[in-house]
Amino acid sequence: MAKKHEYGLLIDYEYCTGCYTCQIACAQEYQWPAGMGGIRVNEIVQQLPNDKAYLTYLPFPTELCVLCKPRTKKGLKPACVTHCMSGCMTYGPIEELAKEMTKKPRMVLWVPK
Ligand code: SF4
Ligand code: SF4
Repeated sequence: MAKKHEYGLLIDYEYCTGCYTCQIACAQEYQWPAGMGGIRVNEIVQQLPNDKAYLTYLPFPTELCVLCKPRTKKGLKPACVTHCMSGCMTYGPIEELAKEMTKKPRMVLWVPK
């Protein structure tokens, strides 16, 4: 079994709807003051040549993310993973998540320091 520091979060942002539930779930779990938190949902707007714009949501953990150690110690999933209704966040051993990353594009793998 992998050690705790060998775990990470895989985020398949192709299926992220930008609902901000992960950000809110983390804030509620850890009572973060406004503007702080373990994950931020970034909105990336790309201008297209035909005067249209393409919006992508990219949820990204911050330095404050503790990978929900108090929850995972009890066998629970991280709060953000539990509440993501799109099911686009996965918590697990880095090696397994890295293998998943090879299967499709538009994914980010986050590992705490
Ligand atoms: S894993 Fe836990 S601490 Fe990290 S962003 Fe998700 S809810 Fe916050
Ligand atoms: S909860 Fe899931 S779908 Fe909603 S913003 Fe976060 S990663 Fe995206």
